[in-house]
Amino acid sequence: MSMAVKPAMVGALACQRNSFLFGGFKTLVVSCEPKKDKKGKTEGYEIELQDTILFPEGGGQPSDSGFLKIIEEDGDSSVIRKILVSHVSRSGLHAKHHVSAHIEPGTTIEVNVDEEKRIDYMQQHTGQHLLSAILECDYKVNTVSWSMGGIITGKKSVLKPSDYFNYIELNRKLTEEEITNISDDIDQLIVNSPQEITVIERINEDEADGVDTSKIPDDYDLSKGILRTIHIGNIDSNPCCGTHLKSTSQIGSILILSSQSTVKGTNSRLYFMCGKRVSDYAKSANKILLNSKNLLSCSETQIPEKVSRQTKLIQQSSKREQYWIKKVARTASEKLKKKLEASGKKRAYFMEEEFGTLELLLQVYKEVSIFLKESFEVYEIILCGYERQSSSGSLLILSDTAEKISTLATELGSILQNLKGGGGKKGGKWQGKISFISNAESAALTGYLSHDFASC
Ligand SMILES: [Zn+2]
Repeated sequence: MSMAVKPAMVGALACQRNSFLFGGFKTLVVSCEPKKDKKGKTEGYEIELQDTILFPEGGGQPSDSGFLKIIEEDGDSSVIRKILVSHVSRSGLHAKHHVSAHIEPGTTIEVNVDEEKRIDYMQQHTGQHLLSAILECDYKVNTVSWSMGGIITGKKSVLKPSDYFNYIELNRKLTEEEITNISDDIDQLIVNSPQEITVIERINEDEADGVDTSKIPDDYDLSKGILRTIHIGNIDSNPCCGTHLKSTSQIGSILILSSQSTVKGTNSRLYFMCGKRVSDYAKSANKILLNSKNLLSCSETQIPEKVSRQTKLIQQSSKREQYWIKKVARTASEKLKKKLEASGKKRAYFMEEEFGTLELLLQVYKEVSIFLKESFEVYEIILCGYERQSSSGSLLILSDTAEKISTLATELGSILQNLKGGGGKKGGKWQGKISFISNAESAALTGYLSHDFASC
């Protein structure tokens, strides 16, 4: 359904004429159409307003969100309804507000913007204009494309601190010195000599002469629409439909990373963020630093050295552990061999109850395999290890036949409720994991093994 009021076109929306209108904007609902999903089921509505202060996506700037307020008279009292606008899309020159409820065309409503989010977007967007302008004018480096970070999407609902970086893709990598100078230049334009930011509207295409319109989307009909150019003092002028700050001072601050990533051969992605994001990022980075300082018991400047020292220590400990595992495994296998030779049933077991890792058992298996094939035609060996801290463990069954392995696996499975494993279908090795072992099970297992198997 629609009514005879003509809506404002994208290009001349209230949000584009004045980017600092954040609430209380009264206007009329012009149309309200159901939005269908792929199966034809209605999933919300698309509303077009006579005019709007909610910016639809465009120019690399994401859509605003906000809410519509309706005042419904009910006798002497009035009820206020708030309807959330999750997204505003652009369809040609029309701004479509995505809402979950139907609103009758002709209804007067009040539009409100998520102000904090919009200001953040304007700081990133305007900061990008300024950064690209300085790179082009002073360093002859072209911006190929740009992407704004810090946007929550269906695919990414939780953001990490590093997700808040925007990037511009440049036609070459910058040096560390260039980045320092560019940061200083921008700081100068934020603090010492702020530049006024203005937008010039051109009503039809003829007036667009001399303006580079190559980046304007194809479905943005210039003959009907309005061409907007944004001017930052005398530094820059560019066609752009987005919402911008009024002065470079409002960018607040900029953080540009010296580490860049190389894309498409020689192009480079330069990461940056502006405004309040910089202090938010500093706070989250500080939290990580503080945790690291506490964990390592050192000052922040000592963290890299301390981590490097810890890494070396871990490598040394790991080497030492490998050495001892091999030594224990060799001793265990020698004992197992002797027990098997002495055992009439050719049954023996090995048990480690403190640090009985799978790695240790496999090392014992490796040592045992060397003599098993040469010296024993029949044998049944159980290798069992617990890790006391996690009450879990591993278990290997070694035998010359699949039948014996299967019988032992069943018997051990009746003792250990959480034993799961497989293998040894042609004899050889059956490998299992005990996800949890209780004290009673541990005692029952020791009882079973010491009764039927020679201990080592
Ligand atoms: Zn812009």
